[in-house]
Amino acid sequence: MPITIDDVTAAADILDGVAHRTPVITSRLLDEAAGAQLFCKCENLQRMGAFKFRGAYTAISRLGPQRARGVVAFSSGNHAQAVALAASLFDIPATIVMPHDAPAAKVAATRGYGAQIVGYDRYTQDRQQVAAALAHRTGAAVLPPFDHPDVIAGQGTATLELLSDTDDLDAILIPLGGGGLLAGGLVAAAARAPGVAVYGVEPAAGDDGRRSLRAGRIVTIAPPRTIADGAQTTALGTHTFEIIAEYVTDILTATDEQLLAAMGLVATRTKMVVEPTGALGVAAALNNRDLFAGRRVGVIISGGNVDLDRFAAAAPLSADA
Ligand SMILES: *Cc1c(COP(=O)(O)O)cnc(C)c1O
Repeated sequence: MPITIDDVTAAADILDGVAHRTPVITSRLLDEAAGAQLFCKCENLQRMGAFKFRGAYTAISRLGPQRARGVVAFSSGNHAQAVALAASLFDIPATIVMPHDAPAAKVAATRGYGAQIVGYDRYTQDRQQVAAALAHRTGAAVLPPFDHPDVIAGQGTATLELLSDTDDLDAILIPLGGGGLLAGGLVAAAARAPGVAVYGVEPAAGDDGRRSLRAGRIVTIAPPRTIADGAQTTALGTHTFEIIAEYVTDILTATDEQLLAAMGLVATRTKMVVEPTGALGVAAALNNRDLFAGRRVGVIISGGNVDLDRFAAAAPLSADA
C-alpha cells in the first residue's frame, strides 16, 4: 500500500494546531429526512473552506530542502487555494497554473492567499506540462491534487478525526474525485474501525471510480458535465486506486438534482453553506435508504466554496423547505 495508518497519524501531528479540528454535527431534522442518524464532519468549515488544506500543508511540510524553492500546482479549484494558503504559512512562493478562462472569483481568491497565477490555454496546452516546465525552471516542487502519498495521508486525517469523535458508526460516506480523500479515509478506517463500511460517492455523470472498481483497473472517462466541480476528474490515480480497490465497500453516485436537493436541505436544516461536491455524501445518505435506514452514518462534508448565485439556485429544490 502507498501509505499506512502511521502516515495518517504523522499527518495528524503535523496538522495539529494548524488545521482546524472541524466539528462533527448532528441534526434531528436531517436525520428525519434521511431515516438514519447522520454525523457530519464539517470540512466546509476547514481553513480555506475545504479539506484540501490538510493534504497541501502535510505535503509541503514534508518537502525537505527543496521546499525553499517553492511549489507549483495546477488547479482552478480548492487545491489551488489550499496550496496557496499552505505555502504562505511556510513563507515560500506558490505558483498556480490555471486556465485563462478560470472564474475571476477563484483567481482572486487564490491570488489573495499570495500565490502567483500563471494562465494557460485549456484547448491548446497541457496544464501538467505547463506546471512541469515551470518547476523545471525554478526548482519548485509540483504538488499533485490527489495522487501523492503525503497528500493522501493528510486528507485521511479528516476521517481519523471523525472516527475519534464519533462512536459506533456503521458506515462512512466520503466524496470521491481523484480519490485522495477517500483513500486516506479508507486507511484510517481500516486501522481504527475495521468493521465500518466505507463508501465513496461520486457524481453520476462522472462514475469512473465505480467503473474502475468493477473493472479492476483504472477506467478513464471524458471530462464529466456535473455541478460537482471538485469531482470533475477523469480518472483515479495509481496510488488512490490501489488503496480504494483494496478497502472500499462500494462506490455510490449522486445526480446533480440530488446534489442540489441535498445542498438545500443542509442549508435549511443546519444553516450551513455546502458546495455541490461537498454534498455528495449527504445526497447518498438521502437516496440509499436500503443501505442506511436506521444506521449510524458518518458523512464527510468536504467543502463549502460555492458562489452565492449558484448556491441560491439550490434552495428551491430542497424537499420541503
Ligand atoms: C477535491 C475535492 C473533492 C474530491 O477529492 P479527491 O481527493 O480528489 O477525491 C471533494 N470535495 C471537495 C469540496 C473537493 O474540493
